[in-house]
Amino acid sequence: MESRPNGRPKGNIWQEIAIVAPASLDSGFVAIMVFTDVPDFPAKPLNCTSMTDDSSPENTRPFYRRVILKLSGESLSHAGERGISMDEVSAIARQIKNAHSLGCQLAVVVGGGNILRGAQFKGSSGEMIQEATAHYMGMLATVINALALQDALEAIGSNTRVMSAIKMDGVAEPFIRRRAIRHLEKGRIVILAAGTGAPFVTTDTCAANRGLELDADIVLKATRVDGVYSDDPEKNPHAILYRELDYDTVIEKNLKVMDSTAIAQCRTHKLPILVFNFKKDGNIVKAVSGLKVGTRISPRSESGEQILINAT
Ligand code: UDP
Repeated sequence: MESRPNGRPKGNIWQEIAIVAPASLDSGFVAIMVFTDVPDFPAKPLNCTSMTDDSSPENTRPFYRRVILKLSGESLSHAGERGISMDEVSAIARQIKNAHSLGCQLAVVVGGGNILRGAQFKGSSGEMIQEATAHYMGMLATVINALALQDALEAIGSNTRVMSAIKMDGVAEPFIRRRAIRHLEKGRIVILAAGTGAPFVTTDTCAANRGLELDADIVLKATRVDGVYSDDPEKNPHAILYRELDYDTVIEKNLKVMDSTAIAQCRTHKLPILVFNFKKDGNIVKAVSGLKVGTRISPRSESGEQILINAT
């Protein structure tokens, strides 16, 4: 039987358990066959290093059991603009729905930068708005985005729940870890709003934290560029795009992936990150299918060997 990249066999496997019991009548033996359907995707990917190029339909299936998709607020607006563009929201909702339809459990952490970031008040307005207040304002911005994404997803038939880290009765459920897991198991797309509920961090850190709390297999960081580069590709045409990196190399080279707290969290707990371009239609499906896309960041091997592979 053909193997998946992680070594598990492909396709549904029907396990047969035969219980042979003596019949009460003198008709010999009765065989009871019990069939259990084993999901064709792993409880946890065993070897996540082998991304493939094969995007044929039979290979487009979830490689991951549960993922956190980090969407920045800017992914919900037109490039260079602020606010919400429902065209952009609908486009991303369609991609999310397609990825979820593969059978992957999906929680979305949504940012708020298209509306407001806490840091933007620093040094302005005579510091009238305290820094912590500004961060709470940023968290509320993420709730606005989460509601827009929810309606866009439900308009195309997805089942969703918005869970907020700041209690907001009447608008969203509170984030309760066990309840979030239950929603995921029931096939609902969970949209995580209000970040961590605590100021002075960003939704990148929230994505890492929720990834750990919800026992996700990977954090998918959706960006407008193709992955992690050696330099800003918009300023330096010679910037190198990496295919694979390890956390230490990201930190040592100060590469722009996620904020440093988020990287540190993922590094400590060996939670892989995939940075990819969501603007290319189909890339979210490719990402959850384990197909070659973007830059993957994972731990070094036991021997401490550096992972630094350029995209070809
Ligand atoms: N924020 C916060 N705590 C959190 C998450 C977010 O204080 O746990 C605030 C912070 O000010 C941040 C803003 O909310 O700048 C919006 O989030 P973020 O900057 O991560 O949005 P993105 O850049 O992803 O659109």
